[in-house]
Amino acid sequence: MQVKALRIKITGLVQGVGFRPFIYRIAIANKVKGWVENNIRGVTIEAESEEENLSQFIRDIATQAPPASGIENIAQEEIACTGFDGFSIKKSTDDLKGVTEISPDIAVCCDCLDDLKNQPNRINYPFTNCTNCGPRFTIIKDLPYDRHKTTMDVFEMCPDCRKEYTDVTDRRFHAQPVACNHCGPEYELIYGDGHLKDFSSILKKTAALTESAKIIAIKGMGGFHLMCDASNEAAVSRLRNRKLREGKPFAVMFGNIGILEEYAEISESERILLESWRRPIVLLKTKKELAPSVNDGFHRIGVMLPYMPFHHQLFEELKIPAVVLTSGNISDEPIILGNSDAQDKLSKIADAFLVYNRDIFNRTDDSVAFVVNERTKLIRRSRGYVPSPIRTRLDLENIFAAGAELVNAFAVGKQNLAIMSQHIGDLKNFETYEFYEETVKKFLGLFRVKPELVAVDLHPDYFSTKFGNSLGIKTIQFQHHHAHIASCMAEHGLDEKVIGISFDGTGLGTDGHIWGGEFLICNLNDFTRFTHFEYIPMPGGDQVTREPWRSAVSYLYQIYGEGFRNLDLDFLKNIPTTKVDLIIEALKKNINAPLSSSCGRLFDAVSALINLCTVSKFHAEAPMRLESIADNAIQESYPFEFSEIISFKPTIETIVNDLKNKVALPEISSKFHNTIISVLLAVAEKIRIKTSLNKVVLSGGSFQNAILLGKSEHLLTQKGFEVFSHSMVPSNDGGIALGQLAIAAKRRSLGLI
Ligand code: ZN
Ligand code: ZN
Ligand code: FE
Repeated sequence: MQVKALRIKITGLVQGVGFRPFIYRIAIANKVKGWVENNIRGVTIEAESEEENLSQFIRDIATQAPPASGIENIAQEEIACTGFDGFSIKKSTDDLKGVTEISPDIAVCCDCLDDLKNQPNRINYPFTNCTNCGPRFTIIKDLPYDRHKTTMDVFEMCPDCRKEYTDVTDRRFHAQPVACNHCGPEYELIYGDGHLKDFSSILKKTAALTESAKIIAIKGMGGFHLMCDASNEAAVSRLRNRKLREGKPFAVMFGNIGILEEYAEISESERILLESWRRPIVLLKTKKELAPSVNDGFHRIGVMLPYMPFHHQLFEELKIPAVVLTSGNISDEPIILGNSDAQDKLSKIADAFLVYNRDIFNRTDDSVAFVVNERTKLIRRSRGYVPSPIRTRLDLENIFAAGAELVNAFAVGKQNLAIMSQHIGDLKNFETYEFYEETVKKFLGLFRVKPELVAVDLHPDYFSTKFGNSLGIKTIQFQHHHAHIASCMAEHGLDEKVIGISFDGTGLGTDGHIWGGEFLICNLNDFTRFTHFEYIPMPGGDQVTREPWRSAVSYLYQIYGEGFRNLDLDFLKNIPTTKVDLIIEALKKNINAPLSSSCGRLFDAVSALINLCTVSKFHAEAPMRLESIADNAIQESYPFEFSEIISFKPTIETIVNDLKNKVALPEISSKFHNTIISVLLAVAEKIRIKTSLNKVVLSGGSFQNAILLGKSEHLLTQKGFEVFSHSMVPSNDGGIALGQLAIAAKRRSLGLI
């Protein structure tokens, strides 16, 4: 047989995920000689062997790659043979400028779970990990990713671990957090006056406390969780009260997918997502109730499966189906990292503290996702996703995008890669703002980014905008909804004119009004506003988001004047008359009633109008409740007006009639959803006729609504549109920094900046 030589270039997520040792092992197995190295573009291999071996080698690369890797492309070219002696892993040749890939944290793998049962030095060891699994981003202090630059630096490897770590054929070769019972981190349980250090006692006691309705603060991968029995109403409502969290559903962890299936409906793609190494919280339709306080009347529940060895071990002890596992924080503050901080801040919430002695360096919450039309959609992008870059077709080098304010995540640009931060939260909260500043500093350092250009939102009062401006670097402002659409375009590599539909909560428009029901014709660098939802005054400004009844009153007042008070509407009976008087006064005199075309506020108005949610206990509760009750079998929709702009006055009037006729709320909700979708289709069609554009890009917070997104995608596709929606970043403001990066990069490349 003839010997051949190939140069193979692999791009994608192939660094920090055990890729080179994997290549080494399959090279040996296939009698391939040569070398493998990491570089800026990915992994390069020179491979020499008989033709058959080489073909098998390449097939193995594609089919057996480490689970957390993501191969984008394998390119090969034939080269001259050199006559290698064996196969080797070359030291990385690039300087740090090129290092961009840090793996997200990876759920414990099956092999490691087996080791908990079988490997002598890892029996029941809760920090077992290997090159395919374990903490990554959360423990990394600096690059290159090496043990002494992680929070594992204080633990000296024992001889057994070192042997595995240095043996290229071992599955723990260069697994930086490698540890065992003799040398690694340990748990400690603190409760009342008690104090346990022995792990099997800890496990039993934690299970016993949980089963007796106690709340436990437990140190997770990216911060503390608060945990309690999800089937015990007393425990869950106590957690709710102590955490000052009124209505927002709690995420729940089930021991395994079998039990989970009794409580929620799971499609095949949802199952794959739940069981993936990223292990996000997945929103599913409920089948059977846990404690009522878990999701407070919602028909969807956020669930996840165990991802740390401890989770698996705990469920082996527990006799309950699920635990609530919610971020360890008070109200809207960031998730707590440190052991003493947790004991300080959570002392009034938790009855016990389960800590361990390895530091978390980068905090990450659990990510939240749902599935629409078989595709993953993110609501919160954090653990398991961050800091994987988003590959774009733009030169993003040294651009910093500050993000929005309420659901903040920022982004830094490195070559063509957009590196998005983890979910930061609401910057109006002081602790969250500190987390923002600290994380920006970490990202700039970690990824060696020196901002030359700063992209911020048009809103001058956003804390992110102010932060961006304070950097003293060239700063440019972008309209919020253009950035939303650009974010989705960047994800899909679109760089052309498109129909951009942004249905959103709030964002400042170029005319000084609040936008949010927007039809744009745009490319990456600019946009025009084709049409939008009718402006409605929002009495009380920001307060309307907390009190959706104000939006309802405003819509009604536009239609009926003060006469709406005689319509005998149920929702008004719960609002003090004096308050309604004040709002009417504000509307009449136009005091503190900014104009808004927001889609979110329209959903608020309808949710309040049908008396489903008049006062919001958490962000976006009203639209979420409206979505939750919709009866999907209903096909009808309400009338609307569309000439220059889109008016929902006929919609509201017909809903008022439906209420009078005692039409069921799930039917009203569904007809309303269908109306918004009809508007979307009608306007898209009109733009297509006028411009011949056929690509529709959907973005903005309202597309977290699965009905709205699912049906819109489906019907637009049916009408021959090419439809693009998010999958790698959230459609809410947590994805906006990607759009800011993209616009800045495009304008820079055109010499417009
Ligand atoms: Zn493993
Ligand atoms: Zn060890
Ligand atoms: Fe937004």
